[in-house]
Amino acid sequence: MNFFSTEKIFLHATEDQLKRQQSAKSLQLDSIDRDARTGKIKTYDVSLDGCTCMDFTRRHKPCKHMYRLATELGVFPVDAPKKIQVPVPDYQSSSNAPVPKNFVVIDFETANDFFDSVCQMGIAVVENNSVTATESFLIRPPYEDFTNSAIHGITFADVKDAPTFAELWRRVKSFVDGRTIAAYNLFFDWTCLTATLDRCEIPRPKFEAFDVLANVRACRNRDGELSTLTNCKLITVAKKLGLAHDAHDAASDALVTAQIQIYMSETFPDEQTTVYVT
Ligand SMILES: [Zn+2]
Repeated sequence: MNFFSTEKIFLHATEDQLKRQQSAKSLQLDSIDRDARTGKIKTYDVSLDGCTCMDFTRRHKPCKHMYRLATELGVFPVDAPKKIQVPVPDYQSSSNAPVPKNFVVIDFETANDFFDSVCQMGIAVVENNSVTATESFLIRPPYEDFTNSAIHGITFADVKDAPTFAELWRRVKSFVDGRTIAAYNLFFDWTCLTATLDRCEIPRPKFEAFDVLANVRACRNRDGELSTLTNCKLITVAKKLGLAHDAHDAASDALVTAQIQIYMSETFPDEQTTVYVT
């Protein structure tokens, strides 16, 4: 049993396990086999499934040696277990305002259920209601555990040589700085961004942001193409508007999100949205 798969996350949150995570930090890993995901610490043979030490033999729960190995392999963030959280809207204020004609769409794909496991980011810049730039980055997340590969097709092998978010931040910042952020289901992407910035120990910049999904839900009650939607999934809306879309490719998701918002802004010039200020 791999104790470090994402669904076992709560196993690590008990007092006893936290103690072992703390002890792991000062341990010396004598050797490691990254392909086999095993290692040697003193006389102990360590893997993600078990260890030959007395502690594991007795308890059958991860020992300090296993935490040391898991950290080295990037499958367990010993330093950041507090980042395990549900997306909570995190903003200072919100107000209703006309939908901006200038904004930047962000879209993240994640390796697993952790919000700081971003492995791809898509960006689409909109100026005066036209898409003027798109960008896409592959990102090496702090995990090797990819449980979302079936969704987006990205595996650890695809990103193991990619830059980390910390290394990409300067470029990302050049797109988002001074622009209103938009996303399809804002709180998901917003939480990915803030959790990742926190993990990289980069201060969160101040932003204004709005949710294109919320706007679709509002427009669905009005006339036009969107009034006959069967649901508000991005793939469904893109299809309804006849947009070319490679679902769950971050760049394509960002582009169609921008195009959907532009469609709504042009169809309903009086459209309002909730703008969140962080
Ligand atoms: Zn052990």
